Amino acid sequence: MASSFPRLDLIVVGGGNAGLCAAMSAADTGKSVLLLERAPEEWRGGNSKYTRDIRCCQEPDEFATGRYGEEEFLDDLLRVTHKETNLELANLTVHESNTIPSWMEKHGVTWQKPLKGTLGLSRTNRFFMGGGKALVNTYYQHCKKSGVNILYNARVEDIAIGDDGSFKNIVVNNGASSRLEYSSNSLIVAAGGFEANIEWHKKYWNGAADNFIIRGSKFNDGLVLKTLVNLGVRAVGNPKQFHAIGVDARSPKFEGGIITRIDSIPFSIVVNKFGKRFYDEGEDLWPKRYAIWGKLIAEQPNQIAYSVFDSKTLENFLPTMYAPNKADSISGLAGLIGLESSSLEETVKNYNNHIDGVGRFNPSVLDDCKTIGLDPPKSHWALKIDSPPFYAYTLRPGITFTYLGVAVDSSARILMSDGKPINNMYAAGEIMAGNILTQGYLAGFGLTIGTVFGRIAGERAASKQS
Ligand SMILES: Cc1cc2nc3c(=O)[nH]c(=O)nc-3n(C[C@H](O)[C@H](O)[C@H](O)COP(=O)(O)OP(=O)(O)OC[C@H]3O[C@@H](n4cnc5c(N)ncnc54)[C@H](O)[C@@H]3O)c2cc1C
Repeated sequence: MASSFPRLDLIVVGGGNAGLCAAMSAADTGKSVLLLERAPEEWRGGNSKYTRDIRCCQEPDEFATGRYGEEEFLDDLLRVTHKETNLELANLTVHESNTIPSWMEKHGVTWQKPLKGTLGLSRTNRFFMGGGKALVNTYYQHCKKSGVNILYNARVEDIAIGDDGSFKNIVVNNGASSRLEYSSNSLIVAAGGFEANIEWHKKYWNGAADNFIIRGSKFNDGLVLKTLVNLGVRAVGNPKQFHAIGVDARSPKFEGGIITRIDSIPFSIVVNKFGKRFYDEGEDLWPKRYAIWGKLIAEQPNQIAYSVFDSKTLENFLPTMYAPNKADSISGLAGLIGLESSSLEETVKNYNNHIDGVGRFNPSVLDDCKTIGLDPPKSHWALKIDSPPFYAYTLRPGITFTYLGVAVDSSARILMSDGKPINNMYAAGEIMAGNILTQGYLAGFGLTIGTVFGRIAGERAASKQS
């Protein structure tokens, strides 16, 4: 059934940060925009509603503790991606990030003064007041004021390209009996990755995927991404790569957000279900390492692990939503978390026997408390686990987002498999982040990509004549 809207200038699919930035940019120029958000209103905002900060080039001010320039930003990106990035798009993103703070302010965002904590990022990142929920609410209000039409419960299920190779229409399921067709001069897709689609993860992780916990939106099932790939669009990014951290095993399956993250790892030992350590918990500063632990746990038997520590280090990381397990002895702790006590006791004893013992513990820097002759080593913050009470968190892989996406050019136009751009179809945000982020992660960079490419897509689509 055809929709009742008059001919629209632009349709945006997905109401997270990238889609909202695109819709606002186009509406700012007076164009008619329809935003289709699959979630009901109370769940709108995708993964973006869980964010706290955005990475951008900036000079020191009351919200940034120092200078972060283009050269350093690009260096950081090249390091985490091992230089596997589309350099043109990476440069563009870094350069465009200079104007992000003022653009966000113009669209209603206010900032929070620098915070202290385990993820101290206030030189490279800006924290918005109220976190991601406030960010998306502010943008939705701005969209409403600018006349953007917003439909909730609007699941885009199909996209059609005409004989001339340009966007023709989309098919939307709104839960009612009829499926609606919408057409417009241009289309922007900003519907996230496939992180919430356990069956899709199973293609690469088999049954292990059943033990994944999805930190963000349950609505990001990758249907739009799959539809585009089936249309012959060029895919980018390794489908097995994701950003994943260690979360509390008691977290909800979906939508746990930021508060389920466990930060005890660098101040603990982490063992698998056999009570054995498997990776250097103190390899580097936590902001540089937290995002590898989801994959490490996903690779362990039954995708489960346990962070074990004692009373000396309890105060050194952010408090958690759920209290840790607590016991007066290691064997008592093993009983609480379901590990064989002799294995855990042996691992703790062996670890304690290999502590160097001459270093000075300092949780804020790469200190010289390390193990000697232990495999795997613990390179920093290695203190004996000998002061009761003893504590443990049970951990699962917490999937943040996936890296598979669609290829775009510097105008955010989607590329077909032969490399030719589709004239009036654009992508922004997580659905195209794999052009730039192929592996690794820089905190706050997801929103940077979405804001930069959302703005570009909105402006370019708005400049198209009907
Ligand atoms: C817990 C957590 C914390 C994070 N913290 C940060 C942070 O502090 N800083 C940072 O930069 N990044 C952070 N990230 C990553 C960040 O959330 C993403 O990079 C960014 O929000 C992606 O924005 P997006 O608009 O592309 O996708 P999303 O915000 O996920 O939006 C996608 C939207 O598309 C909609 N959608 C999906 N399928 C369809 C369909 N078929 N039809 C219509 N609509 C559809 C969804 O409902 C959703 O609203 C965090 C992620 C999580 C999970």
